[in-house]
Amino acid sequence: MMGFDLIFGPSVERGPRNRRIYLTFDDGPNERATPAILDTLAEFRVPAAFFLVGDHVQRFPRLARRVVKEGHMVGNHTHNHVKLHFAGREQIRDQLEMANRAIECAAGRTPRAFRAPHGYRSPFLRSCATGRRGNPAPRPQTAAARRHRVTP
Ligand SMILES: [Zn+2]
Repeated sequence: MMGFDLIFGPSVERGPRNRRIYLTFDDGPNERATPAILDTLAEFRVPAAFFLVGDHVQRFPRLARRVVKEGHMVGNHTHNHVKLHFAGREQIRDQLEMANRAIECAAGRTPRAFRAPHGYRSPFLRSCATGRRGNPAPRPQTAAARRHRVTP
């Protein structure tokens, strides 16, 4: 379920009631773990989401391409996996843009999701992630989002 918070923006708060699970892998690609993960996912025909670190993508571009080629979703997990807790808007924006460029260049896919390292959230992270400046305009909430709203 997608939630929406006027300060932090949209987030995934809970899975659907049909008890599906979604596999996500962070911090890759990694030359030791990623091939084994991809082999296993292919063997069982299971899709997953990989939140990639831009610097790792630059080191292992073939693995990033393989993730996309095998039908998995790629997300942005910053360029250097830095803690964003004390970063300003400009550093956050740089981290997101550098990672996006690395992923686009290596894998030919623009990430449409972002997962912050260490679970960082801030009121201005959303505007950095969406490219909007200033306070993000609130979006209409769906009934489901209202039911599962997170309070900061
Ligand atoms: Zn991470």
